[in-house]
Amino acid sequence: MMNEPNTPPSMDHYYMGIAVAVRERANCKGTRVGALIVQGNRIVSTGYNGTPSGMTNCLDGGCKRCATKDFPSGSGYDLCICVHAEQNALLAAARFGISVGGATLYTTSRPCFGCTKEIIQAKVVEVVYMHEWAHPDEHWQEEYDLLQREIQLRHYAMVDPQGGWATRRGEHNVLFEKG
Ligand SMILES: [Zn+2]
Ligand SMILES: [Zn+2]
Repeated sequence: MMNEPNTPPSMDHYYMGIAVAVRERANCKGTRVGALIVQGNRIVSTGYNGTPSGMTNCLDGGCKRCATKDFPSGSGYDLCICVHAEQNALLAAARFGISVGGATLYTTSRPCFGCTKEIIQAKVVEVVYMHEWAHPDEHWQEEYDLLQREIQLRHYAMVDPQGGWATRRGEHNVLFEKG
């Protein structure tokens, strides 16, 4: 939702807007995601999805799993070399020795299986997400729901003019090439 002039944005709007800006750096043929971690009302870490640093970017064919059309969203992640936005935010905090226990994680897309279990184990207590994500297989969706019950999960909807670009799989990445 747009803000009235002179009205400060809510904290959710503020942080999600920054997560959207972080997402512009995402380099993956799949969904583009931006994430950040808030600890004591401060952003302590950010992350977007893409191949590990120093490796060929996903959009340049660096990830074989993302380059094929064989894997629907949520599958083949064990073969995927792209690091998810939420993982990158957690890992950057680890690298710089920043505690994320009790923190809130903002992400532009509902975290996948893998990211959810890592968020739980890092003791991040709350996740606020913008775009919905569901497992393509109903059977696994049940387990996904079970896992997601372990965190306080909140959906935050806001206007996302680049939402089409971010959630469309495999299309030419115009936004990235501009940057
Ligand atoms: Zn990728
Ligand atoms: Zn993930």
